[in-house]
Amino acid sequence: MRAGLVLIDLQRDFLARSGLTPSADTLVANVTRLLAAFRASTLPVVHVRTLVNEDIDNRMPHWKRQNFWGCVDGTPGACAPAELEAIPGEPVLAKSFFSSFQNSELDAFLRPRVELLVVTGLYTHACVHTTILDAYQRGYEVWVASDGVASYDPLYAALTQDYLEARACRFMALAEIGRRLNLRGNKATVAQPPGESVHAGVRWQASSDTPTLTLHNPAQWSERLYTVEIGNEADVNHAFRLSSARQPKWAGEAIRFGVERLRAWADALRSRRTAIVLSLVREIGKPVRDAEAEFDYALGLLYAAVDRRRPDQSETLAEGVQVRHYPLGVVGLITPWNNPLAIPVGKIAPALANGNTVLWKPALPARSVTAQVLETLAEAGFPEDCVNVVLGDAGTGQAVVVHPDIAAISFTGSLAVGRAIGALCAVRGKILQAELGGNNGVVIGECHDLRQAAADLALMAFSFAGQRCTAPRRIIIPCPQYDGFLTHFLEQVGKLRLGAPTDPDTQVGPMVSRERRDDIMARIEGSLDQGGRILCGGRIPRRWRHGCWFEPTVIVPGDHQDAIVHEESFGPVVVIQRADDFKAAVTLCNGVQQGLVASLYSDDADQQRYFSNQAQAGILRINDDRRGIHPEAPFGGWKASGMGPPEHGRWDEAFYSRPQAVYWRQHSTPFHPPQPGCTAWKH
Ligand code: NAD
Repeated sequence: MRAGLVLIDLQRDFLARSGLTPSADTLVANVTRLLAAFRASTLPVVHVRTLVNEDIDNRMPHWKRQNFWGCVDGTPGACAPAELEAIPGEPVLAKSFFSSFQNSELDAFLRPRVELLVVTGLYTHACVHTTILDAYQRGYEVWVASDGVASYDPLYAALTQDYLEARACRFMALAEIGRRLNLRGNKATVAQPPGESVHAGVRWQASSDTPTLTLHNPAQWSERLYTVEIGNEADVNHAFRLSSARQPKWAGEAIRFGVERLRAWADALRSRRTAIVLSLVREIGKPVRDAEAEFDYALGLLYAAVDRRRPDQSETLAEGVQVRHYPLGVVGLITPWNNPLAIPVGKIAPALANGNTVLWKPALPARSVTAQVLETLAEAGFPEDCVNVVLGDAGTGQAVVVHPDIAAISFTGSLAVGRAIGALCAVRGKILQAELGGNNGVVIGECHDLRQAAADLALMAFSFAGQRCTAPRRIIIPCPQYDGFLTHFLEQVGKLRLGAPTDPDTQVGPMVSRERRDDIMARIEGSLDQGGRILCGGRIPRRWRHGCWFEPTVIVPGDHQDAIVHEESFGPVVVIQRADDFKAAVTLCNGVQQGLVASLYSDDADQQRYFSNQAQAGILRINDDRRGIHPEAPFGGWKASGMGPPEHGRWDEAFYSRPQAVYWRQHSTPFHPPQPGCTAWKH
């Protein structure tokens, strides 16, 4: 079948959209590779671009409604980045609406030359979507480069992929396309099985032919740390087969040796404390004191799993009535970058303890922390394939979620991605636990020591540059306390020590990446456009320009409805909201879609009672200056901040195992229910 490449809307204005996944840099690098391979193979290439004519104003009606101008003909924003510029012989076709086939020249160019379209471009849920449907309707076979398309809306991107794959096209990684079409100049043309390097009994899946992403040191951006392989569907399938083959045997072993192995894992981790803490400092810029706290928390979670593990998980409720707990099978774990040790340990330990095996997709940063988790599991004697890791990005994570035989997904990450994963799990009837972003409100009540409250909050909000899901994001102050508290708070924020993450005195380190810092700056700019006022911060500190530092920023929004109030800013930003009185402050605290943590500072018993009865969050803190989380307490967001059962303590058992009620009567031939835990539930 003759193939041709279509590049849709790969223009600077579209690439500049915040929240693009994969990022604009990654997308352009990926499409550039594929483009080079098509050119080297002398296969047809066509560029389609949205062009707005200012004179006749041919914008789409919703752009007019939003007063949005983009891709205006003749402006730099309408052009492709240099790497993706057309060369002679490649048509550049204009359109003004979603589908590339709006321009009839596209069909005229493709029809005599091509039966198979390979589609790349922006955005997956919009122009890519409609172009694919139109191509399908015209009888073309369509392949979509899954790592060559991007969207800023993960929910609609995921649903779009699901919808299109069931009908009109196939999504596959660039490397796979290169292999299948035998493209020249593309190292992906060499067919290879997924590579794997074995970490003494626990495997690390990494394709030799998939793209890689280079990660930088957040404290010294010019320093390249390493590259990470972006695993694809084939890698996920391969890892699944290994995990699945191991699971039934491990289910039996977990009953006999689970506790012993978990203890040995804790010992192995402890023996590497210094190395792991240093990796956290270097790879995500976590200040060393915070990195130590994460390490200790991870161990606490592991010991909690040891303590909870009972050798026989069946229980008798009454004569002839038994409850047994079965493992789920292979569980998929998808974790974020900001706690790259504690969050995975807090999921892997109960998953294994309950007889499951694990397919883990960590976030891109902190690769060596991931490696050390695997190595310590192996040192602890966990058998090969109890835990398999596939490194990668959003596409890799999605391949884990949609794998038909992965029984359940435990995800921690942002609200937008959690919703996308929730939608995919819902249509597949897949079990999901999702711990999502917070937008945590703090109410300042009648508190005798406002200075102390301000000092606690400044540290909790800005340490680790505010990159904690539990960090206070909004401080809501009733009129009587407003001026007094704010003066103390700004004074305390001014005293915070910015510094190198390696320095034990540092309180505010760098953000994890330039991309994340740009995102925070765009949010602040957006707030200023809506009438917000910056009370302090708002800039890149001059002395720390070599890394990703951003000043602790306190902002008063123009209005309680502004985006900065309602969306989580995952960085060093605190929003101040003024309330008429205490009850109005609690209403504002609840007045966002998220509900992870809500806090109160007040000495007044009535206010404490009112708050604890009214606040809508999975975690409440009342005059609590400890930043820690108890490893046995439920950790889960209410409202949009979580789905499924919370994590930790006895709630883990509810997620990682499946109960079964067995009723039996003794007849003349005694019936012995089989030993629980030996068989996986096949989803
Ligand atoms: P993220 O949602 O961008 O990514 C989390 C993980 O999901 C990563 O491994 C990522 O590669 C993967 N992923 C991204 N898109 C995906 C998709 N479409 N399908 C499948 N997998 C996908 O989050 P992040 O930036 O890594 O972490 C920060 C976010 O995590 C913040 O919102 C923070 O509040 C939240 N978080 C929540 C908790 C909690 O327990 N509630 C804890 C830590 C962090």
